Amino acid sequence: MSTYELSRASYDLSKRYLAGGVASSLRAAMKPVPLFAESAQGAIVRDVDGNEYVDYLLAYGPLILGHAYGPVNEKVYAAMQCGITFGLQHKGEIELAKLLTEVLPCADKAVLSGSGTEAVMLALRLARAYTGRSKIIRFHGHYHGWSDSIYTSFPSADMPSASASASAEREHAVPPGTAGQSELSLRDVILLPWNDAAALEAALDEHEGEIAAVISEPVMCNSGCILPRPGYLELMREATASRGIVLILDEVITGFRLGLGGAHGRFGIKPDLVTVGKAMGGGFAVSGVAGRAELMALIENGTVSHLGTLNGNCVATAAALATIGELAKDDGAAYVKMEKNASKLTVGLRELLGKHGIRGVINGIGPVFHFMFTEQSVVEDFASFNLRDSAKYALFAERMLDAGVLVRTNGLWYVSAAHGDAEIEATLRAADRVLGGLQ
Ligand code: PMP
Repeated sequence: MSTYELSRASYDLSKRYLAGGVASSLRAAMKPVPLFAESAQGAIVRDVDGNEYVDYLLAYGPLILGHAYGPVNEKVYAAMQCGITFGLQHKGEIELAKLLTEVLPCADKAVLSGSGTEAVMLALRLARAYTGRSKIIRFHGHYHGWSDSIYTSFPSADMPSASASASAEREHAVPPGTAGQSELSLRDVILLPWNDAAALEAALDEHEGEIAAVISEPVMCNSGCILPRPGYLELMREATASRGIVLILDEVITGFRLGLGGAHGRFGIKPDLVTVGKAMGGGFAVSGVAGRAELMALIENGTVSHLGTLNGNCVATAAALATIGELAKDDGAAYVKMEKNASKLTVGLRELLGKHGIRGVINGIGPVFHFMFTEQSVVEDFASFNLRDSAKYALFAERMLDAGVLVRTNGLWYVSAAHGDAEIEATLRAADRVLGGLQ
């Protein structure tokens, strides 16, 4: 049995000074206690009690090369010797923006920000300014950051199921994600079921001439890692293009994780705008918006403001250039390795479910997947995702921690290029023991 004594003591101390004891609300959910990290290297993280874990949390996604990756750190140190940030222009910004336009198929031009939340805020602003319309369509179960204009709670399992005849009243009843959020900020948001072509077309018809943008994760990574049904993203692309609506694909998770070209490169869909973050910087604070020249021109001609004291700072640009450079090396060998290892894990976990007679589903693509316990045999929309047994999974996650594997409490696993055979095998051995005790 691991002890978490020092993590518990640190959490108590933290709560005296840091409101909530954690720096991002979600982290408080971790059981038996929000862990305090001491150090990390590669795929392994060590906590303050000296326990070591194979890490599949990966800082909620960014650590695509693993922890403290030497070649990236060296480039970041070297950049820091020349100045950390200037508030002036520097060549790192040009190199990074150029690289984004080269690897992201939809990108004529790019801009840089500090977080996924900010990137989404800018993309929505560009869409509204470009179209002169104000309404935004977004989908149940997706997450686009915590800004007032898009943050809404995930509805519960008893959410009304997908319906093409959704009433305007229900569409507008978008619940705020938190107290303190002006309800007016969500007035222009229309919330629809995802992976439901009829619901999308009905809403587009009903609101003809009013919709500025449709924003969507290309894979519903935030709720079950659910893939788009065949033809769904293509329909989304066509239906928005024919109505002059801006299509924003939020690739903050999928960008640089599903390949250098993100999900839109992988699926061959060209959105008008794409938001990227997380894996792009390998753990450093950097994000971007990229897309069609006509939209990005609104920034060039001063119509749309894009601001941020630390935007494009030397640390962020060096980290992103080095991370993307490593991912591109040897024809994307890192992706081949990650996909192979993610597949070993998912195949192994499915076998273990069978061996222990536990019903579950694993949805995933490339080096990201969602593992859930459910009686459903397929989970392909938000309503079926909500039927999973989250309490059982939380118990599994807690026991996996005790067995030396760090997984997120909600079931989303990330694999990095630092994970190798030894880590995968250790993980499957741990899962075998833990699943054996769960029946
Ligand atoms: N969009 C998506 C799809 C995300 O998953 C997230 C973060 N999980 C964000 C936006 C917000 O990014 P950040 O936490 O960097 O603000």
